[in-house]
Amino acid sequence: FTADSYPFLKRDPRYATLNETDIDFFKNVVKSEGGSIVNGLDKSTDPSDLDAFNIDWTNKYRGKTELVIKPKTTQQVSQILKYCNSRKLAVVPQGGNTGLVGGSIPVFDEVVLNLGLMNKIHSFDELSGVLSLDAGVILENADTFLAEKDHMFPLDLGAKGSCQVGGCAATAAGGLRLLRYGSLRGTILGIEAVLPDGTVLDNMVTLRKDNTGLDLKQLFIGSEGYLGIITRLTIICPRRPRSTNVAFFGVPSYENVLKAFSESKSHLTEILSAFELMDNTSQRLVDAHSSTQRPVEDEHPFYVLLETQGSNKDHDEQKLNALIENLIENEIITDGVIAQDESQLRVLWERREGITECLAKAGSGVYKYDVSLPLGVLYDLVNDTKQRLIDLDLLGESSDHPVIDVVGFGHMGDGNLHLNIAVRNYDKRVENALQPWVFEWVASQRGSISAEHGLGLLKKPYVGYSKTPEMIALMKNLKNVFDPNGIMLPYKYV
Ligand code: FAD
Repeated sequence: FTADSYPFLKRDPRYATLNETDIDFFKNVVKSEGGSIVNGLDKSTDPSDLDAFNIDWTNKYRGKTELVIKPKTTQQVSQILKYCNSRKLAVVPQGGNTGLVGGSIPVFDEVVLNLGLMNKIHSFDELSGVLSLDAGVILENADTFLAEKDHMFPLDLGAKGSCQVGGCAATAAGGLRLLRYGSLRGTILGIEAVLPDGTVLDNMVTLRKDNTGLDLKQLFIGSEGYLGIITRLTIICPRRPRSTNVAFFGVPSYENVLKAFSESKSHLTEILSAFELMDNTSQRLVDAHSSTQRPVEDEHPFYVLLETQGSNKDHDEQKLNALIENLIENEIITDGVIAQDESQLRVLWERREGITECLAKAGSGVYKYDVSLPLGVLYDLVNDTKQRLIDLDLLGESSDHPVIDVVGFGHMGDGNLHLNIAVRNYDKRVENALQPWVFEWVASQRGSISAEHGLGLLKKPYVGYSKTPEMIALMKNLKNVFDPNGIMLPYKYV
């Protein structure tokens, strides 16, 4: 999808067009301390060098930037933004570019400010568990560093090998264990951010309690680069668990999935760290496009991956075994396995974490919806979507049907469903059938149209399904306070 696919989007003439003087300025700023730029105006630059910054992870959105700036320090970010603001050059912050809503790549020719070279871990306090690091640190690298200190990063997700902690903060990513370790809105203690006029906002607090005025860092968490650039953060990290167990169940109905969740919370209480839902269609895709074997023999309508994390192996196993006995006795689950060692544990997680990548291999495209819903109706959205696409003759086995499969999975413990529609090719008929219908469906249940992936370009026109006009007006007023020239993240978010 290039900007041409969105007829309502026009390049805003308020923004300046990049010229050689701008490039010289940026070159000069980053040349010290090992920053760098990729300059598309330079005829000797291979145009494909810009692709990694112009194309998103889903391969759905494509921008046309001619300049990627990779600063090394907060001071450089400040100089760059100040200049862009004075010249009215539009800017897109970019982390690991793994976001799924078209937020991290330009729509037209915005300058990409990529945080990849700001990747230092600054300090870790073993007593408090507070980690201080640059926004560009890859999530997995932060967690590996913490593992050596017997701690863990309080967020984990499938893109951990590429996404950056700053990108995760900017999207308020939820991930696999929010159920246990809470949201980044609670674990991030402090933030350093650069405002569009170059002001550096130093809120690098390491305290758990700080009730002095408005909690401004919260405005940056989940703001997707709309207000400024997160350059550093402090985050409180828990001890690494001494015992981790993973079980994988086959479940005969969604009603029983709900019962299993209720029983799991009751039996496992503080050690329940993940409760992930997968439907059979998602597991058929993983069968087809990964090298892992389905862990339970027969096919079941639903599967659950349940994880416990605790400090005492015997205690945790006792609790898990009691839960499983209960689930089997009451015929809530029909089949299940418990990982016996680290490698089995990894395979069970791959059956869940691999779904997104297997979906990407199913056809040529995937329509993705990431919604929060009350648990009782969470899976109804998948059934209703399937039915709608069948009724409109868009879903079927023949190659005339654009839709291959409708898949539901997600972080059920947090009421978060990922509804994914795999298509043979992106097709306007499918898009029109889904939007705004999916958002209307979600709004009718007072759900959220964006649980954890953000708004980006994809959901900008639909914010009104989750927020009132008064709230949207206040957000726009705040934007004007932070970014009166509107240079940050144009065409997206709200
Ligand atoms: P990008 O994709 O580069 O950027 C995302 C947005 O944040 C953009 O709007 C960008 O402009 C802005 N941004 C980036 N860095 C900064 C910064 N330093 N300051 C200001 N703005 C910035 N998300 C979940 O919540 N839970 C999951 O379980 C989950 N699983 C995923 C699994 C896979 C396989 C993939 C590909 C994605 C998954 N995601 C998940 C999506 C998730 O949003 C991203 O993986 C991650 O949070 C984005 O980090 P990033 O560094 O790649 O950011």
